[in-house]
Amino acid sequence: LVSNPNTAPKVGVLALQGDYAAHARSFTAAGAQVSEVRTHEQLQQVDGLVIPGGESTTMLKLIDYEGLWDSLLSFGQTKSIFGTCAGVILLAGEVTSPAQKSFGLMDLSVERNGYGRQLDSRIVKLDVEGHPAEAVFIRAPIIRRAGPQVKVLATYLDTPVLVEQGRHLAATFHPELTSDLTVAHRFLAKLKA
Ligand code: GLN
Repeated sequence: LVSNPNTAPKVGVLALQGDYAAHARSFTAAGAQVSEVRTHEQLQQVDGLVIPGGESTTMLKLIDYEGLWDSLLSFGQTKSIFGTCAGVILLAGEVTSPAQKSFGLMDLSVERNGYGRQLDSRIVKLDVEGHPAEAVFIRAPIIRRAGPQVKVLATYLDTPVLVEQGRHLAATFHPELTSDLTVAHRFLAKLKA
């Protein structure tokens, strides 16, 4: 891994469960200073946070167990969060199939494992605002509804798969599992803005 200058944006990766190590690698490659976040104190050190893919119910249990719910919610009220897959489920306003609690930081309704067998696990090419990008889907949620403040940056099978709302970014796929840094750079640009 390259070590980036200490003027680079500080990206924390929530490291309770899921594929946080892959995010750490890709944000390091994209030029960020990356650290793993497991405590309130570590969260205070970063400019933006990644909530990785994994299993959202397990991640929620660990967030509660570690007493991080309030810290994460207030972080998201003033700073940027990038959620991928399970991370999108945690950011959404409404979760179905089954319902579970979520931060409500983005005006999204998501259905867990919404593509069913069709997208159990697949690599596809996306168009992100005119730029080709590679996307890996693994038991992805479907964004069933995106509120008026949500901007859709990419779609697949006629459904939004990469969206932003104000300072937050969400991908139902896993950009961190390819060497394509398009989406990581997009998040870093939000931190610099
Ligand atoms: N299906 C998982 C969930 O509901 C998300 C899958 C993923 O993050 N790759 O939490």
